[in-house]
Amino acid sequence: MEQHSQENETIPAFDLFVIGGGINGAGIARDAAGRGMSVYMCERGDLAQGTSSASSKMIHGGLRYLEFYEFRLVREALKEREVLLESAPHIIWPVEFVLPHSPGLRSIWLVRLGLFLYDHLAKRKRLGRSYGVKLNESRFGKPLKKFVKEGFVYSDCWVEDSRLVVLSTIDAAKHGAHIHTYTKFLGAKREGKKWRITVQYPDGREETVFARYLVNAAGPRVSKVALNIIGGDEFPKPMRLVKGSHIIVPRLYEGEHAYILQHSDRRMVFVIPFEDRYTLIGTTDQAAEENEVDHPKISQGEIEYLLEAVNLYFTRRLTPEDVIHTYSGVRPLYDDGSTENQRVTRDYMITLNEQCVSVYGGKITTFRRLAEEVVDKIIEDQGRTITGTLAHWTSKGILPGGDIPDSLTQFTQAMVETYSGMPEGMITRFASQYGTRIHDLLQGVTGLSEMGTHLGDGLYTREVDFLVDQEWARAPDDILMRRTRLGLHATQETKDNLAAYLDKRV
Ligand SMILES: Cc1cc2nc3c(=O)[nH]c(=O)nc-3n(C[C@H](O)[C@H](O)[C@H](O)COP(=O)(O)OP(=O)(O)OC[C@H]3O[C@@H](n4cnc5c(N)ncnc54)[C@H](O)[C@@H]3O)c2cc1C
Repeated sequence: MEQHSQENETIPAFDLFVIGGGINGAGIARDAAGRGMSVYMCERGDLAQGTSSASSKMIHGGLRYLEFYEFRLVREALKEREVLLESAPHIIWPVEFVLPHSPGLRSIWLVRLGLFLYDHLAKRKRLGRSYGVKLNESRFGKPLKKFVKEGFVYSDCWVEDSRLVVLSTIDAAKHGAHIHTYTKFLGAKREGKKWRITVQYPDGREETVFARYLVNAAGPRVSKVALNIIGGDEFPKPMRLVKGSHIIVPRLYEGEHAYILQHSDRRMVFVIPFEDRYTLIGTTDQAAEENEVDHPKISQGEIEYLLEAVNLYFTRRLTPEDVIHTYSGVRPLYDDGSTENQRVTRDYMITLNEQCVSVYGGKITTFRRLAEEVVDKIIEDQGRTITGTLAHWTSKGILPGGDIPDSLTQFTQAMVETYSGMPEGMITRFASQYGTRIHDLLQGVTGLSEMGTHLGDGLYTREVDFLVDQEWARAPDDILMRRTRLGLHATQETKDNLAAYLDKRV
């Protein structure tokens, strides 16, 4: 249902126009389309190009939020871990977090109480409960300094953040949503009971789209975008922009568990296995300027701060030379007036005025619930009730590729056998990246000769075509950093080959 500029009330309009293809915009588009609404979603760059690919990549309850009495948020997030694990087991999996006790910081009783609440605030099906551990006698203590004698182990989940956005968008499109990436929302004006919206396509062409409801899910730009929405009652809420950065170093220790370290200022720093050969370390909480939102960068001070946290606990000493990659993102937080950035609520806030919804704050972990609430609000605003099998359908909805019959390990093994003519490492990557959609990518493929041209580092044109045709990829980084993580180690030659191929292809 493409719309064109006409000036009367009888012209058809989308039910919903969503601004922003981060996790929240994608989640809302998916939920609404699945409930039968007509949806147009625009993202000015690539899917997940903003904060949603710069997270710590955890689906977690947020142990530290308990200290700030965020019980509602933690309970909801803990519940979501189980729901999301079921919906996308290829990109979300449980991880054990080791929390070394550090004498002089939080007392052991406080930590125990926090973990007790963490275990009991919501039902657990697949995730284990926490337990104490003597680190000086356990494999978890091996890479740590001798002073670390005891600690705790609890479970949360890992998520491939940008792929979660892509899969939610694919699901939205499967339910009929119109997805337009590299398409900028320029402005909207109230016209009768509809919004008259102007978008700009990648070729510079502008178009008018009509919609009954407007959803502003522009992340850190939500307030800026709100200034281009005229004729409603929606005023931007106070926001706190807080930058968070990560560093990536060569693998620091053996094992699939992660660590959560108490820094000397009591902040928590995560150390997580990443892509087989690396370790991910983050994050920070720094006030961000408005002009940093588009391209946030890590500072030298942040690098030193993160290295310091690791060097406090690990025997292997890291220096800035060990850092092979960094990334930063800006948290679009709802400003609750907290003095310290780390204390600002991570809960979300949804406003609805004159058929315009704005989304502030939130976590990747709670995106599905946030989306559900947005769509519920819109339905209620229309005077309808929320009933029927489609209400809250995403709590049981499986994301594309997530219909894996067994565990990811068993599924991967089965795929290696099915595609026995292909390199095992490549099939292992495909199994996790695409889940059961691996068969869409590899239909009829018996060996590498059917994968097209090799661009380098295991990237073949068949996969690139799949990502362009099925996942809206257009630019090299869309593929190297947000659809795959090959960019972490791809050579310049591979990058150039890919850029040249896309130039011809897109
Ligand atoms: C350092 C850090 C670590 C984090 N770690 C975690 C974690 O481990 N777990 C967790 O659950 N959460 C985590 N979060 C929080 C989570 O990443 C964010 O809450 C979430 O990604 C916000 O998603 P969003 O869709 O609101 O914003 P974004 O992902 O920023 O999406 C907004 C999109 O809107 C687009 N846009 C803006 N203006 C326009 C326009 N005019 N037209 C069209 N499109 C537009 C942008 O390009 C952008 O893609 C972390 C955040 C940070 C910064």
